[in-house]
Amino acid sequence: MRPVPLTLLAASLLLATGIASAANPTTTISATAVKTAEQLRDKAMLDDTGYRIVESLTTEIGPRLAGSDADQRARDWAVAKFKALGYDKVYTEEVKYPLWVRRSEHAAIVAPFPQSLVLSALGYSPGTPKGGLTAQVVKFDSLDALKAADPDSVKGKIVYIGYRMQRAKDGHDYGMGSAVRTGGPVLAQTKGAAGFLLRSAGTDADQRIAHTGVTGFRDPAKAIPAAALSNPDADQLERILAYGKPVTLKLDLDCGVVGEYTGANVIGEITGRKHPDQVVAIGGHLDSWDPGTGAIDDGAGVAIAMAAGKLIHDLPQRPDRTIRVIAFANEEMGLWGGRAYADKHAGEVAKFQLGTESDFGAGPVWRMSASVKPQARDAIDQIAKVLAPIGVAYDTKKPGGGGSDLSQMHGKGMAALSLTQDGTHYFDWHHTSNDTLDKIDPKQLAQNVAVYATFSYMAAQADGDFGSAPGAFANDGAGE
Ligand SMILES: [Zn+2]
Repeated sequence: MRPVPLTLLAASLLLATGIASAANPTTTISATAVKTAEQLRDKAMLDDTGYRIVESLTTEIGPRLAGSDADQRARDWAVAKFKALGYDKVYTEEVKYPLWVRRSEHAAIVAPFPQSLVLSALGYSPGTPKGGLTAQVVKFDSLDALKAADPDSVKGKIVYIGYRMQRAKDGHDYGMGSAVRTGGPVLAQTKGAAGFLLRSAGTDADQRIAHTGVTGFRDPAKAIPAAALSNPDADQLERILAYGKPVTLKLDLDCGVVGEYTGANVIGEITGRKHPDQVVAIGGHLDSWDPGTGAIDDGAGVAIAMAAGKLIHDLPQRPDRTIRVIAFANEEMGLWGGRAYADKHAGEVAKFQLGTESDFGAGPVWRMSASVKPQARDAIDQIAKVLAPIGVAYDTKKPGGGGSDLSQMHGKGMAALSLTQDGTHYFDWHHTSNDTLDKIDPKQLAQNVAVYATFSYMAAQADGDFGSAPGAFANDGAGE
């Protein structure tokens, strides 16, 4: 257990005795605002704005790999969509990042049983030399097993990690699945491997479809070709390895970093009536991986946030504070949009009333948790009461992390929620050609919009703040 800072201890003692200091009064939400929020929630549950937005994005733009031609078209789409929805202010903020391209990818067992394999190159993987890379495969069951390996056993070989990701409602095993994908290639490279393969970080077992995703490579000079095998192809490779004969595999990847790219976060605002400079920040990421059309990752998140703002816009009166919807650039290859945003806006963190991002598909939100100051817990309770009838349980123990890109702003001190979606099936489709619009249930998406519209509006109307300040939540455990 971490030691409890004295200030926190003092604050909880104050809370326990029901006294809030004059300098830090209890934050509450008026009965009028609660009533409006309930109406907003009920309207949103029956509204299809969110679905129409994600349908438009995935149909008119389709895949949106960061830095591709479609990236620019997606930004143009987002600007036009915010305007069409009636947002008061629409603008972009530049984000620079390395430009990685995928041209082609093939692999085949050369010996002992020649046959091709289905795989997908990973983000920041370099290409193989002309004519491909042919080498022996060495298998590990886990990242730890590779960590423990003698470099001599790995040198010049293609390292394969066969970790199988487990299904869970909260998707927690992606922690390990993604660690194998990001950390495995880096570790293999430092031990002298020639290439890296993993069993896809996905929970589908029967689809001959690979799950792509980013690696931890950031320096092209220290990178080796890296790719993910589909789960059935990983099974096949493991069966062949089980014969106990040396297995030789040919990897032929044409991909790599080709320069730097300047993209942008696209931002739309519903301007606050009383405190326009104070913002509730919500969003999703506009980029997607290239095999699918980025419906669940993260067209859904962009649509949920945009639609929530639109529903608040449609109220008879503007909210007290500004609702800021951010469509982040290049989340997939390393939170580039989120990090650029947090670096640019760290100095204004106290103006961020509350925030969180949707980036876990389109399943219903079932859990809420918060990182706020103790004097704002009453207001979070009020939000939880309005969200309970649509299936959201308030977990008072867990911190709120702010979602993927906005976790960076939370790291600077923004008060944040976590709104956990049902991710039971998310990793069946995540980062694959199966990430398409048909995976989204319009009613479940509407529930998400209702949750985002309700909490955003209530936070915007609150009498008082949620404790955002430089470094405010540095020890809340959200990043663990
Ligand atoms: Zn995502």
